[in-house]
Amino acid sequence: MRQRNIRLPAALAGRIHRAKHRLQRALLAWFRRHARDLPWRRTCDPYRVWLSEIMLQQTRVDTVIPYYRRFLKAFPTVRALAAAPFECVLKLWEGLGYYSRARNLHRAAQMIAGERNGVFPQSAAEWQHLPGVGRYTAAAVASIAFGECAAVLDGNVRRVLIRLFALDRPRATARQTALLWAIAETLVPHKRAGDFNQAIMELGARVCTPRNPRCDVCPVRGHCEARKLGRQTQLPVRQARKALPHYDIVAAAIRRRGRYLLGRRRPDEMLGGLWEFPGGKVERGETHEQALRREIREELGIEVAVGRHVASVRHAYSHFAITLHVYQCTLVGGRPAPRRHTALAWVAPSEFDRYAFPGADRKFLHLL
Ligand code: SF4
Repeated sequence: MRQRNIRLPAALAGRIHRAKHRLQRALLAWFRRHARDLPWRRTCDPYRVWLSEIMLQQTRVDTVIPYYRRFLKAFPTVRALAAAPFECVLKLWEGLGYYSRARNLHRAAQMIAGERNGVFPQSAAEWQHLPGVGRYTAAAVASIAFGECAAVLDGNVRRVLIRLFALDRPRATARQTALLWAIAETLVPHKRAGDFNQAIMELGARVCTPRNPRCDVCPVRGHCEARKLGRQTQLPVRQARKALPHYDIVAAAIRRRGRYLLGRRRPDEMLGGLWEFPGGKVERGETHEQALRREIREELGIEVAVGRHVASVRHAYSHFAITLHVYQCTLVGGRPAPRRHTALAWVAPSEFDRYAFPGADRKFLHLL
């Protein structure tokens, strides 16, 4: 979809237009010879292309491959995915992170199977009407599956373009993003747009890498202004990284007749739909025991006696890190009710594999 972009400065537009056709040819020829043989590259089936693009968001290719294969085995078509209970979808997504992707994928599959009678959108503009599909994903699917001339801009493309045209200002701002979209749209060819988009992403992933770009084997080195200026390792200009905030979380392993009490997180919160050991954040000035008794009272409406410390595990999410401290607890008053969860369940350890857990709880289960 052609969205409004800013107008390219005349000097930059001139440079791009002069280099454009040779750049396109060089990238496409390199991609033909050097593209990795990835499972989703053997097809133009929109369901498979769309699934791969959603899984690849913020996630490494090596991590995605086994998930992609297992997912397609369980849900070979969009109708199969739409008909599956969300719990099953979530279980297959467990460990891949960013769980809202699974929820949106499932909802979008139901829209395609139901409202659209199984017919996929074709244009990037139509794809963007589906939940979880933004400008990048829409353009990637429409160009790869349907050949639409739509440009993509992800982290890899962004880095390649910044280096190719030696752009260092403005840094990581909305204006820079708009400028980069405008460059990407100018560069994408009318024919083989899907291959071109994959080629430039592949170049960023394997050659024009963040720390040590391999300019000596780069197919577009003759056009690269950062290389001519010897600035390829300085661009893009890096922003100072803020340290991740860290939280201490306490959780209760409440056991009854060989089963543990688990709660399912609400769909509208982070890690929505996953099952966890109940508990929460330790507030300033609280001991672990005080925090745990308070959290369990607020979450389940029961009183517990806090016993032995079972384990502590660290886990980093995208915007913060936690240490999860798990304690054995005994129910001493009340009946558990789901005040903050959508459901509670008493689950035997032999049944844990049927439930999808957040990363930190899963680490704890391995220790348990
Ligand atoms: S020449 Fe180097 S810096 Fe320029 S695009 Fe190629 S790998 Fe990146």
